[in-house]
Amino acid sequence: MKNNYVNISFISGARSVTGSNFLIEFGEKKFLIDCGLEQGTRYAEETNHEPFAYDPASVDVLFVTHGHLDHVGRIPKLLKDGFRGQIYSTPPTKEIGELVMIDSMKIINRAAEEAGREALYLQEDIDHALARWNTKDYHEAILFDCDGEPLSVSFRDAGHILGSAMVVFSYQGKKIAFTGDLGNTPSTLLSDTEVMRDIDYLAIESVYGDRNHELHFERKEKLKASVLHTVQTKGILVIPAFSVERTQELLFELNEMVEKGELPQVPMYLDSPLAIKVTDVFKRHTKYLNSDAQNKIRTDDIFNFPGLTRIQDSEESKALKDLPGPKIIIAGAGMMNGGRVVHHAKNYLGNPHATFLIVGYQAPGTLARVLVDGIKQVRIYGVEVEVKAKIEVLSGYSAHKDSDDLVAFVEPMVGRLKKVFVILGELRSALFLAQRIKDSFDVDAVVPDKGDKVTISLVQ
Ligand SMILES: [Zn+2]
Repeated sequence: MKNNYVNISFISGARSVTGSNFLIEFGEKKFLIDCGLEQGTRYAEETNHEPFAYDPASVDVLFVTHGHLDHVGRIPKLLKDGFRGQIYSTPPTKEIGELVMIDSMKIINRAAEEAGREALYLQEDIDHALARWNTKDYHEAILFDCDGEPLSVSFRDAGHILGSAMVVFSYQGKKIAFTGDLGNTPSTLLSDTEVMRDIDYLAIESVYGDRNHELHFERKEKLKASVLHTVQTKGILVIPAFSVERTQELLFELNEMVEKGELPQVPMYLDSPLAIKVTDVFKRHTKYLNSDAQNKIRTDDIFNFPGLTRIQDSEESKALKDLPGPKIIIAGAGMMNGGRVVHHAKNYLGNPHATFLIVGYQAPGTLARVLVDGIKQVRIYGVEVEVKAKIEVLSGYSAHKDSDDLVAFVEPMVGRLKKVFVILGELRSALFLAQRIKDSFDVDAVVPDKGDKVTISLVQ
């Protein structure tokens, strides 16, 4: 008998930004969208060690929207726990995902060891994942048979990070889309998020569901002002930056400012082996950049400029402390809940000549978030540090759509759209966006909770 129902389970990444993991079932066929790490006050929350809410061995296929840790970080655990299906993503997502999984393994497993826990996963689990990981470009159909009915799945450009995709399932004349994270279009480096009109059911991210960003121009001016201030005062500027996209975007804009003579040459350190490797992925996959960036990269190394030094070695990273100002350090992790930037925080937060330029979304409880919220004393690696450094926020560099742009993204679907599931945002943000969608378009919008399962009838 023909199956007329689709089940969606919001395993995690519901009422929370991180831990993206959704299960969609068409009859007997089970598909996952993302298998990310749950992150909060900790780089990896304890909940990541719990068994999955489904049997990984029963899942046929995993689709990966993009290479960020909160979308790929538990893929090796999925393999470790018995998944033997196929994985699909765009080519850059596979490469960035691999780098991110390898990089995070050390941090996650060190924390697990300290807590007396078994490693979350091992290198061999990453290798097993990569062995079954296929790549498809945007709009290439991936075909399945579900109870005798054809199911077609394809990626569309989300414009969030290099290779980022929305996943669209097309079955019995209905289309169900998961946005993953949606880019802050127009982006310096990427193409715009694709406009979608043909969607019946939409699961949409909501990181900035209740807020709007600063304008692009303002953020560039703020960045320039911070760098100039650092030069004039011979100070220290620390920019905690996500290794994927944010760092490349910063490098691109700094490169332009230095080459146009808007900034003097100043010692800048890219202190992140991951960001250095990811920057090379950008250089290998230029067709995933927007046309403007593609044109520039033909004649200029857009991520490199006089004064920039790449720091691979951790001893060299520690030695940065002894160099006189002015100096600018770009280091991960972006939320300061792990990575080399934590050492820099320990060294410089107590220094009134230092500035921390916090860029983008900060999860509650992370060091970057409490600093933005104005905390005066923090404990880092067992040392109490009185915060004397200047804490500045640059929100325009977000890689996510803001509230107005999320609403504008939904608008072209109105008429066909039957229901919206608001996911991948803190509760307040998700509720706010759901309400805006209901009020603006008279479309049903709900905020599922972690673990909720909904059934969609295809005969409506
Ligand atoms: Zn993301």
